[in-house]
Amino acid sequence: MPRAEKLAKRTPTSRDVFNRFGAYLLDEDRCRDLVIANLHPVPACPGCATKLTWTQDAAFRQNKRVRCNECGGFFTVLSGSPLSGMHMDFRTFVLLCFCLEAGLTNTQISMLIGDTADTVRAWRRKLALLEIIQTTEAS
Ligand SMILES: [Zn+2]
Repeated sequence: MPRAEKLAKRTPTSRDVFNRFGAYLLDEDRCRDLVIANLHPVPACPGCATKLTWTQDAAFRQNKRVRCNECGGFFTVLSGSPLSGMHMDFRTFVLLCFCLEAGLTNTQISMLIGDTADTVRAWRRKLALLEIIQTTEAS
């Protein structure tokens, strides 16, 4: 078999890449940064709105628990947000959002993120509600 033919047979097709795609190919830090940039343009205590110190901000951006110096409250990046209690890492959440926008079905997305179609359905509803709330507030 000629070399070019061998390489043509070994070249991954778009289907091959799709079937192997997953959150593991994304960078957790960058995905977390993306979510934080939207959720907290200016990171502050959700209890008293005190701005974070440099040390607190660094921990906050790592999604670690932070204690407020003013009110003593503990919080993380997701505290008090609609994403509070999320049981997936940030790269899985970003992949889920991307797939929803790309028009994939709940079953396709569930295979990509390694969760159930019911979980995807619940997130689809939750994120659609958030979009309605944000659109309503903007107008
Ligand atoms: Zn506080």
